[in-house]
Amino acid sequence: MKEVIATPSRTKELLERYELRAKKNYGQNFLVEPGIVEKMARHAVVSDHCAVIEIGPGIGALSQFLCTYAKRVIAYEIDTRLPAVLADSLSAYDNFELRMQDFLSVDVKGLVESLCAQGYDVAVAANLPYYITTPILFRLFEANAQIAAITVMMQKEVADRFYAQCNTKEYNALSVITQYRCDITPIMKIPRNVFMPRPQVDSTVLQFRLKPGLPHIQEERLFALIKACFKQRRKTILNNYGTFLQNKEIAESRLKQAGIHPTVRSESLGLADFIRLYEVNGNGN
Ligand code: SAM
Repeated sequence: MKEVIATPSRTKELLERYELRAKKNYGQNFLVEPGIVEKMARHAVVSDHCAVIEIGPGIGALSQFLCTYAKRVIAYEIDTRLPAVLADSLSAYDNFELRMQDFLSVDVKGLVESLCAQGYDVAVAANLPYYITTPILFRLFEANAQIAAITVMMQKEVADRFYAQCNTKEYNALSVITQYRCDITPIMKIPRNVFMPRPQVDSTVLQFRLKPGLPHIQEERLFALIKACFKQRRKTILNNYGTFLQNKEIAESRLKQAGIHPTVRSESLGLADFIRLYEVNGNGN
């Protein structure tokens, strides 16, 4: 391993040499704690024939460890000031490839398919730009691509919602929808003081492993049902579901058929309850 990038002194040196100031509008907070970056990379690389897609390499803190453990790293970056820095900081790694493109415009399915066709196991890793955490994750979830694992750092409060269990204040429609799509494993908590510049919030690394959908379920319909049931959080499921069906009586009878008491709130229901409610009608509405 060449000189570690994820330290305060090396990061400062690179930023000064290239006269860079972190751009807030690109969500730039650079990791300066090598132990954290290494642990994240070890979790992200899923096999000894792994190609990792990295979103936002910055000055290369995480990329360096990904290059150490993975066969190939393909990184997407939006900040045009960074290719010069990365050419320098990662010059020792010939398995790093930089693509200057907004990740939100990448054809994820095409990219993953071409890597799989070359025999790689494909994984995604990122210290995500916080301003687009959810759009990026949904793009990955909805690509319907063969991604073995998505290991990403995000703002702690956002991670808490993805991972929330029922009967907690963080639990909402996003939690249920994500848990339908993925198995989620919390990898580690990250304090705000290991970044340069230091953000206002702590972070969490989560790993998502996509699950196959249930064959009899039309996702858009299930997700519409879940969103409607959480629409007015303080109201009962009967209220929210009744509004969704525009008929309280039918709503009540379907809830009973699904074994759900009409006076409970959605926050006390698990994914299995919403699936049963969907199934009562065959297609969820
Ligand atoms: N990986 C580095 C690290 O851990 O130190 C930098 C992480 S920083 C939180 C987020 C990075 O994502 C920045 O380099 C930023 O320029 C980049 N970025 C922001 N929006 C992006 C987008 N739409 N597509 C690709 N990269 C983006």
